[in-house]
Amino acid sequence: MMTHRLLLVLALAIMPACTAAQRTNSPRLTKSIEALAGELKAEDSAEVWRTHFIDVGQGLAVLHEFPCGAYLIDAGGEHDDKFDSNAALVAYLDAFFARRPDLHNTLDALLLTHPHVDHTRGVEAVLDRYQVRNLIDNGQDFGSGADGQKFLQAWPRSHADVHYRAIALADIVDPKGLSDAVIDPLRCPSADPDFRVLWGRVATDPGWPGMRFGKTPFQNSNNHSVVVRVAYGKASGLFTGDLEEPAIKDLLARSAPSGALDIDIYQVGHHGSINGTLPALCQAMTPEVAVFAVGPSYWQIPWSAWKYGHPRREIVAMLEAVIVRKRKPIDIMVGIKGEHFEPHHLEAALYGTGWDGTVVVESRVDGRQRIVTAGR
Ligand SMILES: [Zn+2]
Repeated sequence: MMTHRLLLVLALAIMPACTAAQRTNSPRLTKSIEALAGELKAEDSAEVWRTHFIDVGQGLAVLHEFPCGAYLIDAGGEHDDKFDSNAALVAYLDAFFARRPDLHNTLDALLLTHPHVDHTRGVEAVLDRYQVRNLIDNGQDFGSGADGQKFLQAWPRSHADVHYRAIALADIVDPKGLSDAVIDPLRCPSADPDFRVLWGRVATDPGWPGMRFGKTPFQNSNNHSVVVRVAYGKASGLFTGDLEEPAIKDLLARSAPSGALDIDIYQVGHHGSINGTLPALCQAMTPEVAVFAVGPSYWQIPWSAWKYGHPRREIVAMLEAVIVRKRKPIDIMVGIKGEHFEPHHLEAALYGTGWDGTVVVESRVDGRQRIVTAGR
């Protein structure tokens, strides 16, 4: 939205590592958890929506924290000799629930955008460790993250009190999105969070052009990502998973005229890949802040941000053109193509788990924002 808001960017001091070190193999993560816990505990939690872009390396896990509950979009991340995203995710959620004992280790929902392993790796760990009341996915049961997605789909068979909803695009009739008690189970007394899905599994091939790696766009689960719009008071955000260009164009045609794509917080689509954001989407969103869920560019290994060239230079430039907010300036590396990067000086409010560590966007019902980064 284009209204003026207070944006306070905090760079946190390095906090001493302590007990969380026993729960994770990552000193960097321990620092992140301890630093953020100290910062967020001091804040008044009333009428605040915190969007936690958890540092899970190359992958996505976004925790939405409200006064009355919590909601997780994706449980993914990177697993290699550099990083164990499951340990990172569980350590973060443990610390979160320790700070919020009123939530009783309960997530109101876990929503998977699509069955790729950088989004589903931690499903079993999350369901085994915490109470999760509602489960949402796109209904597919194949792909690199099929194990996690199928584990989620099977869960309600042995847990009768857990509800499951598969999101098909055909069910989303209203251009402003679909919602029900499974998609949006949160009922906060004063300001009530609003969760709506704007995209999901596409039943028949729309004839999207362009083959990549021997697959049509229709055969790529990215284009069947469940897209979520979250609103809380005057604050809002868009979470597109890994939706790619052909599906984004159709999403724009369906939902942009209604204003449903106009938001404040943008989870940069497909980790900042060249095909995950379009200029027309930026114009429809006019975001205040954008967050890239990526690993660091210096881990030169397969399945990494380095391998894919994330975030791409063109996408960073596209967002810099529409985001007028400033951040504490930082020098990052942007991808020219896979395995090739160049330095970039960032001053617009673009954040990334690959250079900021975990990023928490704090939104008040009146739309005021504050952004807290753990640092790396
Ligand atoms: Zn992904």
